Amino acid sequence: MTHDYDCVVIGLGILGSSVAHHLAAAGARVLAVDRFSRSHDLGSSSGDTRIVQHLVFGGSAYTSLLHRALGAWNELEREADERLFFPKPALLVGPENSQLLSLALRGDSRDSKGLRVLGRPDLRRLHPGVSFTPSDIGVLDESAGLLWAHRCVETVQRLAKEHGAQLRFGVRAKVDWSRTTRNSARVRLQNDLASIEAGSVVIAAGSWVGQLLPRTLRRIFSVERIVQYWFEDDGFEDSEARPNHAQLTTLMLDRTNELHAVVPSLKQPHLHKVMSARGQSVFEQAEVERTVSISEQESIRRWHSRNFPDHPRTLKRFAVCTYTTTADDHFVIDHVPATSVVLASACCGRGFKVAPVLGRTIASMITTGRSPAELEPFRLQRPGLS
Ligand SMILES: Cc1cc2nc3c(=O)[nH]c(=O)nc-3n(C[C@H](O)[C@H](O)[C@H](O)COP(=O)(O)OP(=O)(O)OC[C@H]3O[C@@H](n4cnc5c(N)ncnc54)[C@H](O)[C@@H]3O)c2cc1C
Repeated sequence: MTHDYDCVVIGLGILGSSVAHHLAAAGARVLAVDRFSRSHDLGSSSGDTRIVQHLVFGGSAYTSLLHRALGAWNELEREADERLFFPKPALLVGPENSQLLSLALRGDSRDSKGLRVLGRPDLRRLHPGVSFTPSDIGVLDESAGLLWAHRCVETVQRLAKEHGAQLRFGVRAKVDWSRTTRNSARVRLQNDLASIEAGSVVIAAGSWVGQLLPRTLRRIFSVERIVQYWFEDDGFEDSEARPNHAQLTTLMLDRTNELHAVVPSLKQPHLHKVMSARGQSVFEQAEVERTVSISEQESIRRWHSRNFPDHPRTLKRFAVCTYTTTADDHFVIDHVPATSVVLASACCGRGFKVAPVLGRTIASMITTGRSPAELEPFRLQRPGLS
């Protein structure tokens, strides 16, 4: 049978864009669509920065992906002639027995290179603007860095187009499961009356994934609402108390099991972002509260003044974004049973850095029809999801 396309990719966040790039580079005829405009900020891949660090928080399932991540970004930088990655150390702070520090210090969590443990005197000397507690220690990950997120997405999309992929925005897609088999898939595009026959489909729809799946698979995913807050670093140019987090990829603070990350802005160096590692979980996108309440704003101001007591606290702006989670907190990358549809969900707040590696792997799953062993932990049939 002749298909309209070899593959339709649904979703043009960083993951779908990376899959489209690698498929098109391998010579496949690719159509990739996104339901929103090119630079929308409702999904998981928007914004200024994403962190790359070599502490393997998700466990050994991610080790090999992480080891290849930086090489893959460097390769993209060369192909696109763009700077996407900015190396800077990451600093994790908390009591030794806190969740963050015990994970960071666990032998199997880390890539051996570039990790340094800092005692409180070092922390105070290096970061005089932060309020440390007597039990705090730090772990400095010197191999970390920041990805310029929106530039990464734009660059990968540009490369996908240059390799011949067709990209369309403002087009919502739906899989017609009744006409989808192991060899062929039918996709309906909301804005067109016609439907498309493709050899395969990749669903990379981020936290909208549930809306595209057969009912039996929807229950696997939930949506995490995260609020990002930007504070201004003003009036501290020559002061001892100026927080040094501008020199870091991130300062992560674990305070009584409440984990926050402070991340400098690449686009606007006078701003830094603060966000909690865990947000509120809801069942689907439509339930996500898109406004930020006064009490949420007050609470983050209080957090800021507790942790940076000598720092002016000008909350400049905030934004709600979402990512997908599963019950066992791991990615899902697998064929939907008995179909040629691959479900690709780099969920759980750690997917950006490994997206080019996953994009290549998923493209090869499509072209060879085989799922590599390293994706075994992310299969649909696994104990954590049953
Ligand atoms: C605040 C925040 C901070 C994070 N920090 C880090 C970090 O520091 N490091 C890291 O590695 N990871 C981080 N992550 C996680 C990472 O950003 C995500 O894993 C990654 O961006 C997921 O990309 P995606 O392409 O799967 O999803 P998305 O970027 O959400 O893209 C999905 C796309 O699918 C489209 N879509 C949905 N339904 C349809 C449809 N029916 N038809 C057509 N299109 C559709 C949507 O419009 C959307 O553009 C963070 C996430 C968040 C939210």
